[in-house]
Amino acid sequence: MTVGSAANSESPQFVSYRVDDGVAWIMLNRPEVMNSQNYRLLNELDDLFRRAVDDVEVKCIVLGGEGKHFSAGHDLGSPEKDKHLPRDRKLLWPSHLDLPGAELQYVLEQDAYLGLCRRWQEIPKPMVAMVQGGCIAGGLMLAWVCDLIIAADNAFFQDPVVRMGIPGVEYFAHAFELPPRVARELLLLGRRMPVERAYALGMVNMIVPLEVLRDEVAQIAQELASRPPFGVMLTKQAINNVEDLRGKRQAMDAQFNMHHLAHAHNQLMTGSLIADMGAKEMAKANKG
Ligand code: ZN
Repeated sequence: MTVGSAANSESPQFVSYRVDDGVAWIMLNRPEVMNSQNYRLLNELDDLFRRAVDDVEVKCIVLGGEGKHFSAGHDLGSPEKDKHLPRDRKLLWPSHLDLPGAELQYVLEQDAYLGLCRRWQEIPKPMVAMVQGGCIAGGLMLAWVCDLIIAADNAFFQDPVVRMGIPGVEYFAHAFELPPRVARELLLLGRRMPVERAYALGMVNMIVPLEVLRDEVAQIAQELASRPPFGVMLTKQAINNVEDLRGKRQAMDAQFNMHHLAHAHNQLMTGSLIADMGAKEMAKANKG
């Protein structure tokens, strides 16, 4: 077993990494803020996915979150929210720092949100999302890029960002993960979807009792790890291709532009990209 932290990251570290019997366990590790995602966490995650891809001993990747919840989404208000820090860019978009007007957020989110999620969806090794508790907004983005979603019986799924006047999170897979009627409901009502419903609709592969979640995921990961890697890689490409032929990429690009029209509109109307719906306001509105 090897244990480590993200390459190129500074302390404190937001993601942990260990390899156990051919499976890389990559765990979001900010339980005190429900594993909300700041930009450093996302960069650490990308570094660790690369480490898992580069390690020939790793045959399967598990993505989970420490604590009660998988992830509460993008960081809206913790002290370590870090939008104004320089960040390692993963794609060839310019630095967002010092860009004027709507350009700053557009460039930042192309790289940090849409770009990273698309890149992770194309990781050639099998990936399992292990979800307990809340999987909210940006949390959905992380679960959706995985091949299988195995969830605890206390899991729930939610995208409440329409409350901010924004048409859903940046990686707009909602209507590919769910029937369009249900995607409308998820977005427009913004309520919590219990895991049983997500399973019934095919968005979750398995529900297991919380107490045995890690054991069950370990077992499935071992099974995936035993498959021929090249066959797995080609299968993942084949399914990604089906989704793209169904218009996923174009739909996401179109929504991404609407998403940024909404950020810019909010900025003009309220002076805030998210219409002043910070972490506290969202948490209050999201109960129920
Ligand atoms: Zn955004």
